[in-house]
Amino acid sequence: MKPNGTSLNTRSNGHHPAYDLLHDVTVDEMGDDHVASSIETPLRDDAFDLSDEAKMDLIEGHFRHIMNILGLDLTDDSLKGTPRRVAKMYVKEIFSGLNPAKKPQAALFENKYQYNEMLVEKGITVHSHCEHHFVPIIGRAHVAYISSGKVIGLSKLNRIVQYFAKRPQVQERLTVQIANELKAVLETEDVAVVIDARHLCVSMRGVQDVNSSTVTVHYGGKFKSDEATRQEFLRHVSEPTAAL
Ligand SMILES: [Zn+2]
Repeated sequence: MKPNGTSLNTRSNGHHPAYDLLHDVTVDEMGDDHVASSIETPLRDDAFDLSDEAKMDLIEGHFRHIMNILGLDLTDDSLKGTPRRVAKMYVKEIFSGLNPAKKPQAALFENKYQYNEMLVEKGITVHSHCEHHFVPIIGRAHVAYISSGKVIGLSKLNRIVQYFAKRPQVQERLTVQIANELKAVLETEDVAVVIDARHLCVSMRGVQDVNSSTVTVHYGGKFKSDEATRQEFLRHVSEPTAAL
């Protein structure tokens, strides 16, 4: 019995059926329009009660079931290892960033050089997956910060991007999660993140537009309040990358 004492015209979640219908339609549209419901990745409290091994065993079984339903012959040499491979890839690789234990620990250094200008790390590879279709999002991230007295190793910027990318994602959320992590680690609001990415769910299905890419931005602190700072960042991002 629900706290309001009524079970008439409600489902197990306590919503009126009309609400659920509306909700279902909205959720469907959200999925196809790639709208995120929150900044935090929606994870349950028990998300890590199972070990990685247990998760892989379960996913392997379920993926085998999906392949069977599709009519694929799992005794075929080429296919029989696929359920295990997919399970391992999900847990250990492409969705490993769901686990907070995998978050890169960024060692902070004192800013000995008194370098208080902008630092831009551009062209960071982004390989993520759309949470609405579970197909790849492929692109580049450009991140920048102005040191508040702390700096981190350059490779840590890449690792932070990759950690949040290794989740079922929505590009807007990925952008904000990276920005928030940089703000927390670097102890400054002066952070900028731009992601330019292609969504395979847009190019290989749905509207099947192979040429469009999606740009999302997050500006904090001076990048938000100071036009010159923002323009400087965008100038660096648009310049050709240095040749090796
Ligand atoms: Zn999608």
